[in-house]
Amino acid sequence: MKYENSGQAGGCGKSAAALLKELIRIRSMSGEENELAEFVAGKLENMGMKVYRDRHGNLYGEYSFGDAEGPVILLNTHLDNVPVGDGWERGPFAAEEEDGVIWGRGACDPKGAMAAMLTAVDTVVTQRPPEGGRRQGKLIFMGAVAEEISPPSAKGTWKAVKDGLVKADMAICGEPTDNIPCIGEFGKMEYEIITHGKPSHGSAPEKGINAVIHMAHLLIALEEQAERRWSDLLGRKGTLNVGTISGGVQINIVPETARAQVERRLVPGQTAEGSLAELRRICDGVKEKIPELNYEINVAGEGNAAVISREEPAARLMRESVEAVTGRTPADRGFVAHADADWLITCGNIPTVIYGPGALSDAHTSHEKVRAADVEEAALVLTEFLDRALRPAAGDLMKS
Ligand SMILES: [Zn+2]
Repeated sequence: MKYENSGQAGGCGKSAAALLKELIRIRSMSGEENELAEFVAGKLENMGMKVYRDRHGNLYGEYSFGDAEGPVILLNTHLDNVPVGDGWERGPFAAEEEDGVIWGRGACDPKGAMAAMLTAVDTVVTQRPPEGGRRQGKLIFMGAVAEEISPPSAKGTWKAVKDGLVKADMAICGEPTDNIPCIGEFGKMEYEIITHGKPSHGSAPEKGINAVIHMAHLLIALEEQAERRWSDLLGRKGTLNVGTISGGVQINIVPETARAQVERRLVPGQTAEGSLAELRRICDGVKEKIPELNYEINVAGEGNAAVISREEPAARLMRESVEAVTGRTPADRGFVAHADADWLITCGNIPTVIYGPGALSDAHTSHEKVRAADVEEAALVLTEFLDRALRPAAGDLMKS
C-alpha cells in the first residue's frame, strides 16, 4: 500500500492543491510575510509540531520521531513572493482553477512547493508508515522570509544559516523545478564597476579623462571576453549581463565618474573568487592599452553555484522517491536560477536538493501558474522521501 494525499488527520485536512489555493489567497510580498507565517504556523501546530520563529522572522515547525537518534531532515522553502506587477488577466490572489491549472502570484514560486511540503509533513507526522514499522529522527519545516530580495545578507535563510540556527543532515529546498530533483544551481554574482576620470570643459576634452568612454571600453571587453562556461547539469551556459550604466553630469562636462552594474550567472564548478579574478584580469587587459584607466569593482551580491554529489543520500533518496511514485527515472539536473539551497549547502554544509512543482519560466510572471496534479505528485514524492529518510535503518544517513 502506498501513501495518498488524504490529509485526513492533523493539520491540512485537504488535498495539496486545495491547500495551495489557500496559500495563494494570502498576500505575502517580501517584508509582509506575517499573515502567511501565522496561517502556516496554525497548520503546523494542528499537526502536533513544535512551532517557533527566529529573530529574523523565519518560521519553523519541528517534530521528533522515536527516542533514539536519527537523521535531521529539513524542508526549506520561502514565505515571500515577488510583487504582483502588471499584465494579469486573472486575479493574482484569486487562485482560480481552470482545466486543472491553478493561477496566481506565488502559484509555483514558492507556494506550490510549500503546499506539497506541508501536505507531506502532515502525512508523515500524523500517519503511521503504510508498510508498518516506525520512524526515527527529526523533521523540520522552515518557511524563510525575504528570499526574493537582495543582497544575500537580507535573506532569511542566509541569516539563519550564518547564525547557526539551521542544522540538518539533508534538506529539500522548495522551488519550481517541474518536479525534477535538482542537485545544483546557477550562482549569481552582482558587481558594481566604477571608472574614475578627470573633469574638464566640454570644449577641451583632451584636458580631461572621460570616465564614460573608459567604462564603455571595459564593458565591451567584458562582453567579448568573459567566459560563459557550459554546464551539462544545467543544460545551459553561464551568463554575463550589463544591467545598468550611468555617468556624467551634463553634456558640456567631461564626465569624472561612470558606474555600471554587471550580473554574472555562474555554473557549478565556477567560484565567486574565480569570477571576480576573471573580471579583474579582463579590466587589467584594457588598462594595458589605456594606462590612464582607473577602475574599481565592488561585489554587490554573492551567490554560489552550489552543487552536491549525486551519491549524497538526499539526491539518491529523491531519485528513488520520484521513481517509486511516478515510475520515471529522473536525469541529473540543476536549477537554472539561484535559490536558498546555496546557503544551506555552502554555508550550512547541508546536502540539499531543490525540488517542487511548476516551471521556473512561469515564476515572477503575470501568468504564474501550476498544474494541480503536479502539486499532488510533489506531495506524494516528498512523503515518500520523508518516509525513506526517517526509517530507523536510515541512521547511517546522519553526517559524521
Ligand atoms: Zn522561489
